[in-house]
Amino acid sequence: MNNPFKGWEIINVDPGNVVLCDFCNRDYTEDTTSVGGILFSGHACCPDCLPEFQKGIKKYKEEKFVQATANENETFRNFVYRIRKGDF
Ligand SMILES: [Zn+2]
Repeated sequence: MNNPFKGWEIINVDPGNVVLCDFCNRDYTEDTTSVGGILFSGHACCPDCLPEFQKGIKKYKEEKFVQATANENETFRNFVYRIRKGDF
């Protein structure tokens, strides 16, 4: 019998644990080394995007939208987990 769903991959992830950059969509869930990041108007910005992103913040004077910044030596992943707990 032909299975129309053959070849479809069922991805079962717990959305509560996945850490993605809201700007480049890179998956940081397993990344325990990348340090830094900010929360900008409800969106998590990873350390990779940050240098370019901060230029824009300065240019458009949007500093007030930066809600949280990763602590020194805090990984982006842990930073996002902390934000999700509402601890910022
Ligand atoms: Zn990014």
